Amino acid sequence: MKEQKVRTRFAPSPTGYLHIGGLRTALYGYLFAKKHGGDFILRIEDTDLQRYVEGSVEIIYDTLKDAGILYDEGPDVGGDFGPYVQSERRDIYHKYAQELIRRGGAYYCFCDKERIESLRDENGNCRYDKHCLHLSEKEIEEKLKSGVPYVIRQNIPETGTGSYHDLVYGDISVDFKDMEDGILIKSDGMPTYNFANVVDDHLMGITHVIRGSEYLSSTPKYNLMYDAFGWERPVYIHLPPIMKDERHKLSKRNGDASYADFVEKGFVKEAIVNYIALLGWSPKENAEKMTLAEMVEKFSLDGISKSPSIFDETKMRWLSGEYIKEMSDEEFVSRGLEFFKKSKVYGKYDLNKLAALLKTRVETFGEIPEKVDFLEEFGPYDPALFTHKKMKTDLEVAKKVLPAARELLASLPSFDFQTLHDELMALVARLGMKNGQVLWCVRVAISGRESTPGGVMELAEILGKEETLRRMDFSIGMIGAK
Ligand code: GLU
Repeated sequence: MKEQKVRTRFAPSPTGYLHIGGLRTALYGYLFAKKHGGDFILRIEDTDLQRYVEGSVEIIYDTLKDAGILYDEGPDVGGDFGPYVQSERRDIYHKYAQELIRRGGAYYCFCDKERIESLRDENGNCRYDKHCLHLSEKEIEEKLKSGVPYVIRQNIPETGTGSYHDLVYGDISVDFKDMEDGILIKSDGMPTYNFANVVDDHLMGITHVIRGSEYLSSTPKYNLMYDAFGWERPVYIHLPPIMKDERHKLSKRNGDASYADFVEKGFVKEAIVNYIALLGWSPKENAEKMTLAEMVEKFSLDGISKSPSIFDETKMRWLSGEYIKEMSDEEFVSRGLEFFKKSKVYGKYDLNKLAALLKTRVETFGEIPEKVDFLEEFGPYDPALFTHKKMKTDLEVAKKVLPAARELLASLPSFDFQTLHDELMALVARLGMKNGQVLWCVRVAISGRESTPGGVMELAEILGKEETLRRMDFSIGMIGAK
């Protein structure tokens, strides 16, 4: 028998930014489909008009593409199973709702607000009592004819248990008495998620439904519909929640960070995607840094755990730093350009040289300005900086070192790292001092700081001869070394 082609989907609601949890669902759907040579589909679930946020569909398209999670079918790329936007599928839902009514899986409900309100118990919970299930065909016809507003409800059996096997959570059972006859088609004619997801997953040929664990307990309801229609149920893969800390879920509604926020903060995109993949999945051999292609190759459901994972920004930052270290200077400059532009040094120094200095010293591009701005911030500083016990220097040492170093630097025909290194080392020998004494003093003299990214040679090379000498003169004057 020919094996069925795997088809997975990502079905976000356009309610704002694509948050980390949503992106992980998309990523796992993509990885699973690609691992099995299948298709990954994007479907926009926009039937809740109240939660719709203008522009968020574009954010979904852009984010997935930017993250490299490419879909084979979707609203903007087309495909044979469209439309891929639920609000454009109303007629389809209506047709299938009628069909489900015929099959006894659903019924018209004409109860008005007051009647529904009257069903509330002392805790304010409202559970529909199947009143309209018992209307005669004639009554239903009359009400429909005379335009009485209605919803269509699912007809859930009053007894029995709905069971299924989830590939992450195992066997799940929910008693039908704990479910209510939920609305499938609302009075405005729009379907609810509960109905649309079933119809669409079936019609779009979805073989594996991958989504958040919040749908675990409502899945038996969906299975009732698959069964009533005589459709094959999909395979279910529910994903554990992502937590902000031990007790709080990471959530879009609480404004927790989105993919776009992290890109804006200068995290390397591949690192964000890579880190997100690890939220709930442990690849074999504990692989951590992986390209998307490597993730596809390694992806396996056995590695997905049921327990919630905690989003650890520090770890993602570390991973971002690992990606940065591997970049060429040119790539670092082009990908971090926006952040160089925000710094005070932009347009004044050779960015490739700065890149060489920064690559091993930043974990995100966002750190670029704070790391390089000091180059432009030179002015009076505390002469106590020359005193350093371990380096065996103090103000007296500086008074000897600085004039000699100034003279040497002024005489250099070239100001590249190697020349600076060799000449300063020769100066150390001539002065009969320790390396640290000379290097420390000159670095303080040209930076005015206790710590700098990069040592004195790198710094002098970036500043250039003229600026280095100007700073030497300033420092010599400041400590009265002449
Ligand atoms: N629209 C649903 C959501 O955003 C999708 C759930 C699913 O994947 O079935 O949560």
